[in-house]
Amino acid sequence: MNYPHLFAPLDLGFTTLKNRVLMGSMHTGLEEEKDNFEKLVAYFAARARGGVGLMVTGGISPNRQGWLVPFGAKLTSRSEISRHSHLTKSVHDEGGKIAMQILHAGRYSVHPLAVAPSAIKAPISPFKPWEMSRRLIRATISDFANCAARARESGYDGIEIMGSEGYLINQFVAPRTNHRKDEWGGSAENRFRFPEEIMRTVRQKTGKDFIIIFRVSLLDLVDDGSNWDEIVLLAKKMEAAGATILNTGIGWHEARIPTIATVVPRGAYTWITEKLRAEISIPIITTNRINTPEKAEEILKNGHADMVSMARPFLADPDFMIKAAAGRGDEINTCIACNQACLDHIFSKKNASCLVNPRACRETENWAKSGMRDEESGMRGQNLTQNFSKNKKKVAVIGAGPAGLACATELAGRGIETHLFDAANETGGQFNMAKRIPGKEEFYETLRFFNKMIEKTGVHLHLNTRATADFLAAEKFDEVVLSTGVLPRIPKIEGIGHPKVLIYTDVLAKQKMVGKSVAIVGAGGIGFDVAMFLSEPHPRKPGEFLSIENYQNEWGIDPNFENRGGLKKAEKPDVPRKIWLLQRSKNKVGERLGKTTGWAHRMTLKKRGVEMWNEVEYMKIDDTGLHISIKNQAQIIEAEHVVICAGQESQREILQPLADLGIKTHLIGGAKAAGELDAKRAIEEGTKLAFEIAG
Ligand code: NAP
Ligand code: SF4
Repeated sequence: MNYPHLFAPLDLGFTTLKNRVLMGSMHTGLEEEKDNFEKLVAYFAARARGGVGLMVTGGISPNRQGWLVPFGAKLTSRSEISRHSHLTKSVHDEGGKIAMQILHAGRYSVHPLAVAPSAIKAPISPFKPWEMSRRLIRATISDFANCAARARESGYDGIEIMGSEGYLINQFVAPRTNHRKDEWGGSAENRFRFPEEIMRTVRQKTGKDFIIIFRVSLLDLVDDGSNWDEIVLLAKKMEAAGATILNTGIGWHEARIPTIATVVPRGAYTWITEKLRAEISIPIITTNRINTPEKAEEILKNGHADMVSMARPFLADPDFMIKAAAGRGDEINTCIACNQACLDHIFSKKNASCLVNPRACRETENWAKSGMRDEESGMRGQNLTQNFSKNKKKVAVIGAGPAGLACATELAGRGIETHLFDAANETGGQFNMAKRIPGKEEFYETLRFFNKMIEKTGVHLHLNTRATADFLAAEKFDEVVLSTGVLPRIPKIEGIGHPKVLIYTDVLAKQKMVGKSVAIVGAGGIGFDVAMFLSEPHPRKPGEFLSIENYQNEWGIDPNFENRGGLKKAEKPDVPRKIWLLQRSKNKVGERLGKTTGWAHRMTLKKRGVEMWNEVEYMKIDDTGLHISIKNQAQIIEAEHVVICAGQESQREILQPLADLGIKTHLIGGAKAAGELDAKRAIEEGTKLAFEIAG
């Protein structure tokens, strides 16, 4: 059997989970759609069909004060039960199990009704919370229990009580946010009374045969968080009060340590679940940066946990478990932990999706329903009846970057004769540079996935081939897709031809040597990538992840728990060169980077001593270095090299010749528009265009 530990059933006494994987809670934005949960139902049904053992919904509030945002998802009245029942029935019909997460945001609520154990404002919310009265505390405990009872009535197999990430329950538990002097604050016993009473009341209201997961914060990663003895005590109390399973929570939302981003090594937090597992007797789930069946199997085999939670990997591929079970792990579309279409969307008030799988959370849209047949799961989408008999069209896709790869594999998957051309000797385009950036090692997985799909769908791949318009006409292609990508923009600066000037492609693709002092012109996504690459204190082989020990030292995470919250002094990085990262505009350097990861990139570069300057005017480049002016003050950066990262221009020189020959041509990705280009747009455009062409 493939992955025997992953696929071992888990007997909970009154029910059995078919495998050891939990699809962790993720807010998608569909919870608030006014559509009787139709989109949410399709989203969960697809994942239930994919074979995951147990799923957890996004956070549902037990009352209005607990809303994350005004009018956020809640389950506070009987009238709301019917749409939840619709959801649970659809999951059960697909052979799945689902638990509803009850989340009270406390001082993380972004609205004026926010409440907390003490009136202490969170650094990530504009609202100062109201201190909860003793009466309100009692009422909130009842709200949790009533919400749980309604969840049971709605057909959920269980609930998860959100006790981590710095939400209300965590706020009661930690001295950082609980300054109360009454029976709900002070000693650990008093601070833990709130979760204890919730657990006991919820168990009483829901009965013995109902899954109750308690998500406990094992590492707060903030000052004045819990210490290890308290975490063990709380876990034991939750077990005694009726929890079926404990789940691991890592880091409060206000913590300044990345815990799920791509810079975090895989399985970086399983050690702490293992530590707690030795203290309790109920099953415990581990989490954070687990994204392949191999990693999950290794964790379970090594006894770090009883179950593994993966959330984003199921956005990236709903059929993860089916493919793993069938020994087709190389067909899994792996989550690259970029956050670009999931968390960044949610924090920008948009529905979540996935950079590598644009169908995620759009399962009801026509283009998303249609797609490649998967022998085990039926379809990627949901339209199981569509007939993909050979489509007679012959299509050329020019350029094997993310846009071209997505389009070509989707076309071929629909039976269209598809030829994919690239002048390079490998597929991947810009991804081949991205994968070399320390902390972006996961990009290798996306390329592995697409290369496998090329093979599986029968795309005719022509590398080292520059397709001309005449050739495409002679080969009688019905339609051509131009996914030829971008070329670096070369700014008009005096001395731009000086030998000390390098283009980012020289550094990342051609691997030219770079001196001990470097000025980077342009601080967009690529400027930051180059700065990260050139300042990396832990050089390693391509594709090799940062070690967990180096990650802990770099960010100040203490596995010995000498201080509350598990923090220690971060190590001073040993940086190989002096770097200046420059931009002309006034806004903060890095302001346009991803909402949930940009802060960590800025912080990393700051710790590495990278100078990040805005309002820079470039005057000239000569033997001395880069001459600039800031607010009319001239100065010279005596850099050995100047690296140009000044954006891109579309590369589409065969567009006009194709038009002259009357060949129907489509533009996608960077070839269509270079500004604001990212892989998310490229893959989505490629996927949608294939649907259009297939008709
Ligand atoms: P970009 O994000 O548009 O940044 C271009 C930079 O060059 C800006 O800092 C711009 O700032 C500067 N610039 C533009 N024209 C210039 C000129 N004529 N002279 C001097 N400087 C000039 O483009 P990019 O860095 O090439 O990235 C391309 C795309 O890839 C981006 O859209 C990005 O989203 C994506 N990407 C994302 C990531 C990520 O981590 N999410 C990483 C890599 C790439 P000023 O105009 O202020 O000087
Ligand atoms: Fe993973 Fe990125 Fe997709 Fe989010 S957008 S699920 S982080 S691959």
